[in-house]
Amino acid sequence: MEHARRPLIAGNWKMNGLRADGLERARALAALAGAADAPPCDWVVCPPASLLLAVGPALAGSPVTLGGQDCHTAASGAHTGDVSAAMLADAGCRYVIVGHSERRADHGEGDALVAAKAAAAQAAGLVAIVCVGETEAERDAGRAHAVVARQIAGSLPAGASALDTVVAYEPVWAIGTGRTPTPDDVQAMHAHIRSCAPPAIDASALRILYGGSVKPGNAATLLRLADVDGALVGGASLVVEDFWAIGEATR
Ligand code: PEP
Repeated sequence: MEHARRPLIAGNWKMNGLRADGLERARALAALAGAADAPPCDWVVCPPASLLLAVGPALAGSPVTLGGQDCHTAASGAHTGDVSAAMLADAGCRYVIVGHSERRADHGEGDALVAAKAAAAQAAGLVAIVCVGETEAERDAGRAHAVVARQIAGSLPAGASALDTVVAYEPVWAIGTGRTPTPDDVQAMHAHIRSCAPPAIDASALRILYGGSVKPGNAATLLRLADVDGALVGGASLVVEDFWAIGEATR
């Protein structure tokens, strides 16, 4: 059976925002979302951990939900500087990003650790947004599909389902660069990812987001592709009007 996959637009604020501008952005987004009838997509914003307890209440009552940018594999313990999935849930999060390429690169995170983080997120009742994507060298070498297949096999935990897991395809070379793959390349990769989903996951219900320089100007083209079920947005999520316009492009 063909599933109607509801689009998800996720904003990754990364390490940006102090209370004043973070709150202003959250309030403006909540106001826009609250005023619109029948939102065409699900929304989530992932502020830095320091802002979760401020942004959460600002979004309360709006259709925009809260997410974390990373979590530890353990629920608690001696892990200085880390935050657990249970803590994110306690702070009001519904989602958490795991395996973002910046964490894979900056913190040496590999597929097995990403899978353990996703499992911890799911155990805490969160939806894990699991990021995968090839580097430019891997694409140039014709290895993009093989690399992403390996990441999917290694980064999705055994018990994952389409209800508690979202995949974000983010070619590393497209993040923050203003460059994107062609629509044909994006569609081909998303179809490939769907075909690689482990048998335990209902692949036809799995939401697969595209991420990497999504802007209002290219959102409609990318979001209308058959296997693109939303977007993970970095830079443009910091500009409320742009982030809003990307969601509207799912109509
Ligand atoms: C990201 O970092 O997840 C991302 C997609 O960034 P940008 O939209 O800025 O390319």
